Amino acid sequence: MARIAILGRPNVGKSTLFNRFVGRKLAITDDRPGVTRDLRDGAGRLGDLRFDIVDTAGLEEASDDSLLARMRALSERAMHEADICLFVVDARAGVTPLDQQLADMLRRAGKPVLVLANKAEGRAGEAGVLDAYALGLGDVIAVSAEHGEGFDELRHALGPVLASVEPDPVPDMAAAEAPDPDEAELTAERPLRIAVLGRPNAGKSTLINAVLGE
Ligand code: GDP
Repeated sequence: MARIAILGRPNVGKSTLFNRFVGRKLAITDDRPGVTRDLRDGAGRLGDLRFDIVDTAGLEEASDDSLLARMRALSERAMHEADICLFVVDARAGVTPLDQQLADMLRRAGKPVLVLANKAEGRAGEAGVLDAYALGLGDVIAVSAEHGEGFDELRHALGPVLASVEPDPVPDMAAAEAPDPDEAELTAERPLRIAVLGRPNAGKSTLINAVLGE
């Protein structure tokens, strides 16, 4: 199972996102002052995708001078152990110097990264989403972890990346009908079959004849 780490500076919405993936109530985040969590992990799901998800949140209560060093250490560990990183920025706050530092770290790690601009619901996040492109880590997916927006787009972006790090995933029988292994291989005896559909008189036969050159 592929392992995905959620990275980002404090307060960008990592825990809220984590809770979305593991399907827990939003209230689970521990708001007691002084509580610092270590890496939290759980069984994540997004549509038909399944993965292990790791949250690096929990450093908000650290004092300023120790925050950066500890965040770096925790993030580096999570990054090192992960197959894919979800780098979360706050679309409302825009990109900060701390975001830039984490982006540099991610670039050096050379792991697949998806940039999520969270808190993108409504218009307040629009500029921040564009800002996040300047991190130079590729496309930015606008999401709202709190309101559950942007997760279809995330699923579309994450699917191919997961497939690239997990070449032989275990099919999820509950989510999708398992493909018939006999039909998976294309051979001369079992070539690719394409159906042409359309209402009567739309030109299906003419199209097929044109493709066949008849
Ligand atoms: P973390 O420190 O990165 O784990 O951030 P949290 O998940 O604890 O969220 C920090 C704050 O941002 C909390 O007050 C959340 O309710 C809020 N938040 C999280 N996601 C969203 C979102 O999509 N939109 C808005 N407006 N606020 C959010």
